[in-house]
Amino acid sequence: MINDADDSEAINMVSEKDSGMQDIEEEADKLYKTGLDYLYGTNVPVDYAKAAECFRSACRMGSLPARRELGILYASGKGVQPDMEKAVRYLGQAADSLDPSALYHLGLMYEVGSGVPKDMQKAVRMLAYAAEMGFPGADIDAERVDAILTEQRNRNLRARPLLRLEISDVDVEAACCKPMLDSLLEQSIVFIDSYKGPALLGEDKDGMDAVLDSCPFCGAPIHIVPRDKKY
Ligand SMILES: [Zn+2]
Repeated sequence: MINDADDSEAINMVSEKDSGMQDIEEEADKLYKTGLDYLYGTNVPVDYAKAAECFRSACRMGSLPARRELGILYASGKGVQPDMEKAVRYLGQAADSLDPSALYHLGLMYEVGSGVPKDMQKAVRMLAYAAEMGFPGADIDAERVDAILTEQRNRNLRARPLLRLEISDVDVEAACCKPMLDSLLEQSIVFIDSYKGPALLGEDKDGMDAVLDSCPFCGAPIHIVPRDKKY
């Protein structure tokens, strides 16, 4: 196990732009790649502790991919003492910079609530983002989590009274009438997170995609409600 008491200094180093920046970047990249060699046993025996050591040094020099790899090691406890707080911190830093692998791993952690509060909506967004950026396998996980959420949402919609058309910041929460309920279940009308905020997308009379401002069947207005509203 490696003593990593001074991990917190990693971030401060990054912002210091100076003339040696290029050398530092090259050195960081070299360390990152050496870390990968130890991680996968390329030309050297697999050694997770050495991999972690390389990644940690590369982190201090500002390497973003090293941060992601170190985060994954902390999550799995390979070569380091398992530490979910550190895993989330390192992966979060890499995910904030749209590292597809970090988004993917963090997405899976949000799905099960490992080191973070369980949040399926956040999970599916991160996984879908990773998939969009071409991370291998992320599309399958994104679809899997999306299917669970859709199932849950449909069960809720069927169980709730058909009174008001209600949406939260993450999904449709209640339908106003039977035709709207059916459209939502068959997904001819869908929830979107538009640039103006949460909204419903359906078809206008010419069959073009359009943001709805009310129910096209009964005319009910759309109400925004909290996502944990009790029915
Ligand atoms: Zn309606």
